[in-house]
Amino acid sequence: MTVHAPATLVEPTRIDEDLAQLASLIDDTTPGYTRQALTDIDIAGRQWVLRRFRDAGLDSRIDAAGNVIGILPGTNPAAGTLMTGSHTDTVEGGGRFDGNVGVVAALEAVRTLRETGTTLTHDLMVVDFFAEEPNRFGLSCLGSRALMGHLSAADLNRRDEHGTRLGDALPGAGLNAVDMLSAAVETGTIRAFLELHIEQGPYLEAHGSQIGLVTSITGITRFRGLFSGRRDHAGTTPMSHRRDAGCAAAGTVLAIEAIASSHPDGRGTTGAVTFSPTAVNVITETATLTGEFRSPDLDWLADAASQLDVAAQAQASQRGVELQLDWVPSESPALMDTSLLDICAGATEDLGLHQSRLYSGAEHDAAIIAKHIPTAMIFIPSQDGRSHCPEEFTHAAEIVDGATVLLNALIRIDKAATAGRAR
Ligand SMILES: [Zn+2]
Repeated sequence: MTVHAPATLVEPTRIDEDLAQLASLIDDTTPGYTRQALTDIDIAGRQWVLRRFRDAGLDSRIDAAGNVIGILPGTNPAAGTLMTGSHTDTVEGGGRFDGNVGVVAALEAVRTLRETGTTLTHDLMVVDFFAEEPNRFGLSCLGSRALMGHLSAADLNRRDEHGTRLGDALPGAGLNAVDMLSAAVETGTIRAFLELHIEQGPYLEAHGSQIGLVTSITGITRFRGLFSGRRDHAGTTPMSHRRDAGCAAAGTVLAIEAIASSHPDGRGTTGAVTFSPTAVNVITETATLTGEFRSPDLDWLADAASQLDVAAQAQASQRGVELQLDWVPSESPALMDTSLLDICAGATEDLGLHQSRLYSGAEHDAAIIAKHIPTAMIFIPSQDGRSHCPEEFTHAAEIVDGATVLLNALIRIDKAATAGRAR
């Protein structure tokens, strides 16, 4: 890193050590790095983060939504708060950088501010958000939703495949539904949110950029299809007489791929497909299918949904199969704040780092928060674009670059917000 202007520098060995400690707090019965929300190992991880926040001199607690929160007081209590952080829960068999990097870098920013005697006007709120990754209840970003007042009783009534309500699973993590629904903060007092995260894709590496500035976070629309055909003998029923629900579902899987491939920023994925019965000598009577489309383009998402309605219906009706296609309420794309992005760009440039602007195809807490608070995200490269797997890797030097940009951007946002109010 060639520093072009005076900058505050983080301590690389502390970042390494924190990441190594978190990487050791995992469910070792599963390959890769697993610390899923609502498990004992996640509780242990959050307690470790809480101790680390306290060691760094933050006024720290775990809130009613399970978020680990640390506050570094600013010089003017009336100025409001700047917020930074990410998550430390993982997918099953995931990597050790996703989310962890943003929490550890935020913590290192605080340590550096204190050691260098750098004071901020605003309070700095560092957060390890609870349950960012999708869970068995099909709802991600639980902690940030609750903090933003974005979590509903209906959300907590969601059930897993065994019929357990999300609200009833919370006590296992030391939480409860009533308190979680009242965990919202006064969002008007939070002036900005900044999240550092690994890219989880190949863009930065391909463009030789150390830093990515996220312009928007993808929108997502998800669906569930139920195909109802007729059970018949596999040997005696001619092909022309079949009502094969499995074939209708299979045709729909390929339609999802074709629709998404028609747009450069379109993504379409099939989740689970089930056939019943599964006997090889019986024609499939019912098939279920889950899938999603993602894009930063809201119009395309709507268009993709209507294309799939038509395609799935055609797959069903040409086989005499009934179709019920249900759409889950979608997340619209989240736009990042352009003033914050410009401040991050200035900090990156002055540190002599190469930057690109890109959109995020992955969901993040920042997408929930951006709907209430000016928000920006800083990405650092992922080797070979791999993520949500044990091979997920980002070089230590790249993490240090990201943490340094985060720290210096926070200092600049503090100054800009203070000056903005003085005018
Ligand atoms: Zn993440």
